[in-house]
Amino acid sequence: MKINALVAHDATQPLIADAITLRALQPHDVKIDILYCGVCHSDLHMARNEWAVSRYPLVPGHEIVGRVVATGAQVSRYKAGDIVGVGVMVDACRECHFCQQQEEQYCEAGFTATYNGIDKYTGDSTWGGYAQHTIVNEDFVVSVPGNLPLSGVAPLLCAGVTVWSPLRHFNVKAGDNVGVVGLGGLGHMAVKLASAMGAEVTLFTTSPEKGEDARRLGASNVVVSRDAAQMAAARTSLDVIIDCVSAPHDLNPYLATLKTNGRLVLVGIPESPHLAPDVTPMVFRRLSISGTSIGSIKETQDMLNFCGEHGITADVEVIAGECVENAFSRMLQGDVKYRFVIDIAATRWA
Ligand code: NAP
Ligand code: ZN
Ligand code: ZN
Repeated sequence: MKINALVAHDATQPLIADAITLRALQPHDVKIDILYCGVCHSDLHMARNEWAVSRYPLVPGHEIVGRVVATGAQVSRYKAGDIVGVGVMVDACRECHFCQQQEEQYCEAGFTATYNGIDKYTGDSTWGGYAQHTIVNEDFVVSVPGNLPLSGVAPLLCAGVTVWSPLRHFNVKAGDNVGVVGLGGLGHMAVKLASAMGAEVTLFTTSPEKGEDARRLGASNVVVSRDAAQMAAARTSLDVIIDCVSAPHDLNPYLATLKTNGRLVLVGIPESPHLAPDVTPMVFRRLSISGTSIGSIKETQDMLNFCGEHGITADVEVIAGECVENAFSRMLQGDVKYRFVIDIAATRWA
């Protein structure tokens, strides 16, 4: 089935509207009319081949919210009319240790990515959510709570779960002191989710003008990271830091803000590596550095349910698909409050 999508044809050309072919509906597949798709910084890294793994043509988009319009003969979880979400994964091996324990994001065979992956059925590329429709196996589809505005739900499917997963995995609880580095798509969700969990949140930002928003989103403290005095005042104050920065930077000043036994969790994936940090303070204060990759399907559903209960969505700027290149440039300048989301119905494909 041919559909309209926004397609990157190489690393240097803007995305253009073009036709792609979706696979035929398999017995366990649901067909989804896409309503909204968030614009993740990973989409920009991938469209521009910044991680050197992009294959073209490429259709970005892994923060998908839509309506089920058709189901394969053996689908049991969803029916036409359901509002559902699809995140970064659309399949995995289902057999390895990690798949068996519902951590498909660490599948030993590598999960099938929503875009730029290899479709198990066709052998062709998988196509992302900057498109009118998608077809996904029901096991990789999640239910969206009925009480949330859907444009603000879309970013939860990647940005939301990517920060939810480490907050949960590393047992952040009420009263903990949590740092968040970078107030972008991921960072603003980390501030919202950690504060809803009862943590006291400190935001580190390179953009002093974001301080007021950070407090409105739930941060108790705001530290301008380029101000050495403010960084010094935050020394040894935090249990866990979630670093959401998309560019390489010095990790040492953040290690200094951790309490003994503290942990710096990296979720940003910069184009080139961070400078290796100084290990000596890590040894003497038993510090850890971790990285984590998105979150499982179960974590995604848990996070959406939590957001439904707490009335949490992303702060979004809704755009038509033809404005995505402008959104990419503004994202690069840190000018996003705090996630661009494509309104698929408002997009002109001609
Ligand atoms: P984003 O919306 O562009 O936000 C990134 C933020 O980082 C900016 O708003 C800015 O915050 C800060 N920043 C940018 N350049 C900086 C620099 N040179 N120095 C210091 N701070 C800088 O990006 P995003 O969509 O949240 O994604 C963030 C990163 O996470 C990307 O690399 C993305 O690929 C990655 N990611 C990883 C996973 C995973 O599974 N681990 C999942 C999704 C995305 P301030 O203005 O507040 O400083
Ligand atoms: Zn993403
Ligand atoms: Zn597996």
